[in-house]
Amino acid sequence: MLVNLKEILTPAYAEHYAVGSFNCYSYETFRGVIAAGEETGTPVIAAFGAAYLANMSLETAHAIVASLAKEASVPVCFHLDHCSDMHVIYRAIKAGFGSVMYDGSMLPFAENVANTRTVCQVAHACGVSVEAELGSLAVGADSHEGRAEDVEQYTDPQAAREFVDSTEVDALAVSIGTVHGLYKGNPDIRTDILEEIHRAVDVPLVLHGGSGTPEDDLHACIARGIAKINVNTEISSAVVAQTAELLTSEKPHYSVLSLRQTDYVKTAVKKYIGIFGHS
Ligand SMILES: [Zn+2]
Repeated sequence: MLVNLKEILTPAYAEHYAVGSFNCYSYETFRGVIAAGEETGTPVIAAFGAAYLANMSLETAHAIVASLAKEASVPVCFHLDHCSDMHVIYRAIKAGFGSVMYDGSMLPFAENVANTRTVCQVAHACGVSVEAELGSLAVGADSHEGRAEDVEQYTDPQAAREFVDSTEVDALAVSIGTVHGLYKGNPDIRTDILEEIHRAVDVPLVLHGGSGTPEDDLHACIARGIAKINVNTEISSAVVAQTAELLTSEKPHYSVLSLRQTDYVKTAVKKYIGIFGHS
């Protein structure tokens, strides 16, 4: 069944587990993510980023998710990942997304607040949830999401409180040391800053850059208010590596390759679901 982000995150935040948000851009990724949720009895977030509009339109992506989610017994949230263009956000709401992420993290604070508040007013009127971001993540290797010019800037806990109060956002993405893409050195996750943010605001927090983050760090984050964890790079890397390996020994029919790749996605997603701890 399709639900909005708030419906998925409210119980996760209250019961201290995190829901995985997995980037999708093809039939295989949507199907693999939802199948992983179904097989584990776990809610999932199928995320579609504006970066993948060349792969399929918002409307096509929604048609696929809506059809697959209808067959699933677990809650599925169809979410628009990182979007700084309010026109694309409104098109996504019209297309049927259950959640949108307005990313104004590169803007001055007051402008980020004003735009996020406007997006929240429109989205909430349509029953759609909103995630926003404060602070900015560094970019690691192989990032398909972060921009090279992004400079790491930790989220300020007091600014986070003011931001949440002024915008009525449903979930807040924070910058505490994770990176988009894979880490270049050893991760240094600032759970001390996260704890302060968690004390300052009362909405579910979101961790971007789940790929490659050590399991212990993920658990420490979940204990401090993180209820949504984004994973992109590691799923893609796993599928590409397994496909490359398969093709060294077999040259399957393309239809069979599609099934295998769906399975690779599902397996990689299930690994994260196991770490995030829904029971
Ligand atoms: Zn992100």
